[in-house]
Amino acid sequence: MDNNNSNNNGGQNQKGPQTFIILAIAAVVTLILFSFISNLLTDSSQKKITYNEFLEMVDSNQVKSVKIESDRITIVPKTKAEQEGKESVLAAVPLITYYTGIVEDDTLTEKLLVAGVSLEGEIPDRVGFLESLLMTVLPLILMWILLSFLFSKMAKGSGMMGVGKSNAKVYVEKETGITFKDVAGEDEAKESLQEVVDFLHNPDKYSKIGAKLPKGALLVGPPGTGKTLLAKAVAGEANVPFFSLAGSDFVEMFVGVGASRVRDLFKEAQKAAPCIIFIDEIDAIGKSRDSRYGGDSEREQTLNQLLAEMDGFDTSKGILILAATNRPEVLDKALLRPGRFDRRVIVDKPDLKGRVEILRVHAKNVLMDDTVDLEAIALATSGAVGSDLANMINEAAINAVKHGRTVVSQSDLFEAVEVVLVGKEKKDRIMSKEERRIVSYHEVGHALISALEKDSEPVQKITIVPRTMGALGYVMNVPEEEKFLNTEKELRTMLVKFLAGRAAEEIVFDTVTTGASNDIEKATEIARSMVTQYGMSEKFGLIGLETVESKYLDGKAAMHCGDATAAEVDKEVMKLLKESYERAKELLIENREALDKIAEFLIEKETITGKEFMKIFREIKGIPEPEE
Ligand code: ADP
Ligand code: ZN
Repeated sequence: MDNNNSNNNGGQNQKGPQTFIILAIAAVVTLILFSFISNLLTDSSQKKITYNEFLEMVDSNQVKSVKIESDRITIVPKTKAEQEGKESVLAAVPLITYYTGIVEDDTLTEKLLVAGVSLEGEIPDRVGFLESLLMTVLPLILMWILLSFLFSKMAKGSGMMGVGKSNAKVYVEKETGITFKDVAGEDEAKESLQEVVDFLHNPDKYSKIGAKLPKGALLVGPPGTGKTLLAKAVAGEANVPFFSLAGSDFVEMFVGVGASRVRDLFKEAQKAAPCIIFIDEIDAIGKSRDSRYGGDSEREQTLNQLLAEMDGFDTSKGILILAATNRPEVLDKALLRPGRFDRRVIVDKPDLKGRVEILRVHAKNVLMDDTVDLEAIALATSGAVGSDLANMINEAAINAVKHGRTVVSQSDLFEAVEVVLVGKEKKDRIMSKEERRIVSYHEVGHALISALEKDSEPVQKITIVPRTMGALGYVMNVPEEEKFLNTEKELRTMLVKFLAGRAAEEIVFDTVTTGASNDIEKATEIARSMVTQYGMSEKFGLIGLETVESKYLDGKAAMHCGDATAAEVDKEVMKLLKESYERAKELLIENREALDKIAEFLIEKETITGKEFMKIFREIKGIPEPEE
């Protein structure tokens, strides 16, 4: 997903406020310093005396002038020269003035006048008043701005202070720029969404006739199949803004926050109507409210708010809600009833044709030479989804650059397929000689069973170069055609194939290793499904003992039978696996020569292609090479 367009958080513009804070702090510090210094200055040039002393000074003719202020009397003494009646330029400005408190004394003025002291009353100092106002009010204002800024920052950062406010990232794209052409395959999904696009184009057409417009559609499918892409394409086709939010954005620690976010989202959308609201991972809020999947009141409130909003808005305005999920089975039934997400659009894993188309869409902007055969790549990538395929094309382009080429060739693509499926080559991991032998025999064991099954290239290649995703070696199979059904015989062959790696180890080295754990897991899964889901065991017949729970995720199944039956099922699965293992050993012993020869080749070369494999295999079996 690439929602990098404008969001309504506005948290980007932080440069202004930051310089502002620095300025504010500087101002406060200056003010404090200023008042401190001015205090110091006053203190050093003024001396406090008592009222008595002041009167004495007046009596002994030491006072030159007096200024009576509201809270003090400031006294300017006469200099020595002045006391003696001489005029002196030097002593015109006395260094020290005195001050004293005001005492209720009606005779003071008279005394001063008699003593010939010049007297001055106080004129309120306008500038001083302004200054003091600034000194008290300005710091307060600055503090207030500072604090409010800090608070707003905290609220944004933690969500703690922002309770009740919508901080979720609502991504709005005015134009997604994506159309149905950018979504390859998924024809059924596109078809059902086409209708919706038409409704967004001209809602009036529908409302005039009295048709109720759809409010929402649920896009259901495994991750990476292009659900987000489809939703964007709907917005792009209809030429309306695209609001998107993930379900998990609604889920918060505080009860009520999610609900208020839902409210905000719909308010915003209503302003921008017609538009598309896309809620990704809706299962995060839309989980069933019964206790089976665990419930909590915050999520329930959020869901209730969503339901209320969906019921509340007026469809004739042209708002459509698309939601995506890969776990439709956990969704609350209330979400799915008519008038809410009443349409369900399945966006499943692409089939062969779909994969070819997806590869083509993504290959459009990549330079490729004539060796490239996208169909072959599509065949080799059964089970891959759109995002995997997009990734492969990109990896291939990177590979080409790495090899110093300017166009992508088929080998780059195959390398990319491997990287996506099994990880990168891990060249620095050095396996011991013995380990290489074991891994080789193990992998050839798998491949031989495929070859024995039918006389065709069973494998694309086998390699024993370790991979970053854990495989020490692997067999790359390429089916000739895509399969939707498996016969019982095919499933049994698969079991034999999975267990043949372990069988080869046992036959050749007379011991077994940990390398077969993945094979065992897969084989067990198949065997169990055969017994519990496909009705392929004699013992149980056609009873269904398991249901698949999350079809679009890992496909794990849950048993629903009594404990005694479950134990019986286990026994039956064990029997199946044991038979398959015996069969694998049998086949490999019969073909021991081919096993040795091919394994030898693999130990030496590390990689063997399907052609080389079949050449050795046919030589030993005396089968003539097929004509090209
Ligand atoms: P989902 O939402 O289903 O998990 P996305 O829509 O996010 O998957 O798909 C991820 C990426 O995979 C897309 O951006 C796109 O590049 C690619 N992709 C997936 N499906 C398709 C498709 N059908 N056609 C073209 N590209 C696809
Ligand atoms: Zn294996």
